[in-house]
Amino acid sequence: MDYSRLTEVYQKLEKTSSRLEMTSIVADFLAEVPREDLQIILLFLRGRVFPSWSEKELGIGHKMVIKAISIVSGIPENKVEDKIRETGDTGIAAEQLMVKKAQTTLFTERLTVRKVYENLDKLASLTGKGSQDKKISYIAELLSFSQPKESRYLVRTILEELRLGVGEGIVRDAIAQSFQVDPRLVERAYSLSSDLGEVARIAKSEGNDGLKKINLMPGRPMEVMLAQKAKDIQEVLDKFKIVAFEIKYDGARIQIHKDNSKVHLFTRRLENVTKQFPEIVKSAKENIRGDSAIVEGEMVAIKDLDDRHPRPFQDLSRRIKRKYDIPEMVKKIPVEINLFDVVFYEGESKIGEKFKNRRKLLEKIIMETDTFKLAEQSITNSIEEADKFYRRALNLGHEGVMAKNLDAPYQPGSRVGYMYKIKPIMETLDLVIIGATWGEGRRAHWLASFLLAVLDPDTGEFLTIGKMGTGFTDEQFREMTETLKGEISEQMGKEVKLKPKVVVEVAYEEIQKSPTYSSGYALRFPRLVRVRTDKGPQDADTLQRVEELLSK
Ligand code: AMP
Repeated sequence: MDYSRLTEVYQKLEKTSSRLEMTSIVADFLAEVPREDLQIILLFLRGRVFPSWSEKELGIGHKMVIKAISIVSGIPENKVEDKIRETGDTGIAAEQLMVKKAQTTLFTERLTVRKVYENLDKLASLTGKGSQDKKISYIAELLSFSQPKESRYLVRTILEELRLGVGEGIVRDAIAQSFQVDPRLVERAYSLSSDLGEVARIAKSEGNDGLKKINLMPGRPMEVMLAQKAKDIQEVLDKFKIVAFEIKYDGARIQIHKDNSKVHLFTRRLENVTKQFPEIVKSAKENIRGDSAIVEGEMVAIKDLDDRHPRPFQDLSRRIKRKYDIPEMVKKIPVEINLFDVVFYEGESKIGEKFKNRRKLLEKIIMETDTFKLAEQSITNSIEEADKFYRRALNLGHEGVMAKNLDAPYQPGSRVGYMYKIKPIMETLDLVIIGATWGEGRRAHWLASFLLAVLDPDTGEFLTIGKMGTGFTDEQFREMTETLKGEISEQMGKEVKLKPKVVVEVAYEEIQKSPTYSSGYALRFPRLVRVRTDKGPQDADTLQRVEELLSK
């Protein structure tokens, strides 16, 4: 398929913010996409090049794009920068500058969607000396083939700044509409495979029957089952009668996929972190019986292998982010894993099994070691016993407990109420930072006030809900500035716009209705609890959640 056709669709999508309209634009378009291009198109429509769980990353900065535009247009880099400043958008700047080139070049070759993907795929695998120049030449080649309009979207895609508002929800609905299949089957297939391209291909060629056959597969992450909040122990005892309480470890949720001699590790955001944790890979190979399995657990950073006290979450996130000097990090920040579920074993999905049977299976297939072990569990219907377990968990320095329904199946990707978390603290919100303001005086070099936003899952948009700037130590301001600097997308005086990437856990006094912010609500006295490096913007709390909390 020609990239110009996709560009026409981008233009249509850009003109509307209505979810319904976007869905029908995407649905109409999908009907004409050849089967072999569906995978790429479904990523490109959402502004992605690779699925989040792929080990591949683009990582292209503005500098490289400016160089490529300069090479192709023959316009000096500083003039390209001027144009970007003038238009406030690198995509539009590229488009305007390419008009000049268009007048002097004869288009002999048309840019195809596949060619764009292939160049970006090659570029993502380049490392080491000379790779920068090679990457620029791949970008330049694409720009040299593109019409001005195409270069607008190409540049935004390369910079991961497409943001048309086409989220996963819209794409799922569009697949159902376009190929006339059951939306619930699309949702199910996606949560088991995390692969919209595959879901679309199967929906197109095999319809509902094909979708029903999509299943878990080691090596391909699933969307995990989520927990709801309960206010206390009594609430869960009333709900389930007999409850499996487990320690709620404070770390990062990890899916371990064992596929014969291969092991893959994915975070809750479905990022591939296999390379970062060779010691867990080794444990999984040695201590999971059998050839194939998908198990889940909470990974926690510990002091050292003798004193296994948990370390702050920040230490674990350093390990998740670190992509080099891994053996050194393995020694410096050891981790343990507390396994709590198994969803696939020896070629068979176990999600339909009751939790009590899954736990039994887990106990059978895991050979425990000090750092690769089962989550501590207590099954009871007695409030005294449950209270004792809860207090013990807190005394040991854990966050709280999880309460699980022993008879419930596993439901990927949803918050169905089979598992509750009980924590003593006030409910916090996980919010996305989408803007900030530079400080004054002593704080002039730090971002000092942060614009917080909730997710509207229907549109994928972020709606503002307050500003947070008090309660920070100097060290925290410095850290926040370091974390956010790379995400600045626009600067107007002291105000900066930030790409919605960083999620923070925020405590507050109260939620109020407010016309000031686009969510229609404002938080009173928001303050930082911690940066949630384990969560992406799509995992942020939603507008509905805010409304629920308010109505409580
Ligand atoms: P939250 O992230 O606050 O919604 O709490 C739910 C999370 O707690 C899960 O996604 C896991 O990452 C984590 N967790 C810690 N211990 C357990 C456990 N024993 N069972 C299930 N989840 C756990």
